[in-house]
Amino acid sequence: MTLINGLQTHAAAANDFLKDEARVDWHDRALWNLRHKRDLAAGSVTEWEQIKQIGSEIKLHTLSNLAKYLVEFEDNCKKNGIIVHWAKDGEEHNQIVHSILAKHNVKRLVKSKSMLTEESHLNQHLESKGIDVVDTDLGERIIQLRKEPPSHIVVPAIHLKKEEVGELFHEHLGSEKGASCPTYLTKQARNHLRQKFLEADAALTGVNMAVASEGAVVVCTNEGNADMGVNLPKVQIHCMGIDKMVPNLDSVGVMTRMLARNATGQPITTYSTMYKGPREGGEMHVILVDNGRTELFKDELIGEAYKCIRCGGCLNTCPVYRKSSGFSYNALIPGPIGIAVSAGNDETHSLAWACTLCGSCTKVCPTKVPLDGIIAKWRRLHADKKTLPYGKASYMPYVGKLMANESLLNVGGFAARTALKTLPGGLMKPFSGAWGQHRDLPQVESIQSFEAWFKKNRENK
Ligand code: SF4
Repeated sequence: MTLINGLQTHAAAANDFLKDEARVDWHDRALWNLRHKRDLAAGSVTEWEQIKQIGSEIKLHTLSNLAKYLVEFEDNCKKNGIIVHWAKDGEEHNQIVHSILAKHNVKRLVKSKSMLTEESHLNQHLESKGIDVVDTDLGERIIQLRKEPPSHIVVPAIHLKKEEVGELFHEHLGSEKGASCPTYLTKQARNHLRQKFLEADAALTGVNMAVASEGAVVVCTNEGNADMGVNLPKVQIHCMGIDKMVPNLDSVGVMTRMLARNATGQPITTYSTMYKGPREGGEMHVILVDNGRTELFKDELIGEAYKCIRCGGCLNTCPVYRKSSGFSYNALIPGPIGIAVSAGNDETHSLAWACTLCGSCTKVCPTKVPLDGIIAKWRRLHADKKTLPYGKASYMPYVGKLMANESLLNVGGFAARTALKTLPGGLMKPFSGAWGQHRDLPQVESIQSFEAWFKKNRENK
């Protein structure tokens, strides 16, 4: 097992997932199904490409003028009676949340999906202070009971089968042993969560968009759990990365047209709510968190990663993610967007190679984040910093020389084709390294050089 600072590399962690071939196939199909639904939904909107262009320009404009919009947002929030906090990192964010809860003597908090609170490890922080935190999104609750992080940013328990959820609910919620009917299990979860909602002293949600002109936040869920949580107790807290800003309501319209379509193929998220001030007698807090974002904004190309609206579309289409699962990334956010924001970290830099650079992610992204370009840039930056993984650092200079010399390349290609044709496949497998362990070698009869293929199929046609 290859470890970097105690963490498995992507290849090593993927190897663990690949041992269960049935799960790999099922995981791959489930995600491809989402991609297929997304294609149908996008195809049903004639002006889809124009909306993408407008969405991309809105996000780029907002990020380029972020300081102005953040100040405008704060001013308008204050006018609406919202208390705004600023946190430079995850630790400060957690302290702010705890201080709000401590002031109101909160012992039970209901939460709805927020990747930011995963980023800051909020649950662990609050639990260490004696506060009971319950994630109320069904998928999030499942992985919370399993003490696991999410494996996907939109469908966090996509790696689990219904039978596994049935066992989990039997153990924790007392549902019937062996039950795996999704409708039955959902009812069990609903009964369990309803009680948690009624008992909660405060609610916390993530934020899909913060609207500068309104001083309001938009929260989208399919289960209505954010609304249920926020509308019962007196204290509501909304946590967001500073990249979630949009200028105005027109921008919200553009993003909501794309978000659910690109995520699950729905025309719109079932519940899209704008919170614009506290309830009578209540308190509403918004916490704006940087946690490394402004550092990444400094690079013009990499900074575009924060045009992301977290639809998960790039994960669903990525051949590496679909075959290796979210846990193989060892980063908070998996898949192409996870690589784009995490591959600069020392302990997760192997992620820059968890990619075929096929560009499918960039093609499906609704806000045109240049994901494959960013990932290629991380590779270049690691090469410049001499932080390439050992294997690559030792052989890539020779590969570069080989690729740059036509005669050498032709001789090398001829030798490889001859070996594939004459040696038994089993003998060749070890030479294909980690790449070949879970792949079939090409059919011998069809092997020819690219030059020969091109001459036969394309030249003068
Ligand atoms: S990078 Fe694009 S496709 Fe991926 S999650 Fe973000 S918005 Fe969706």
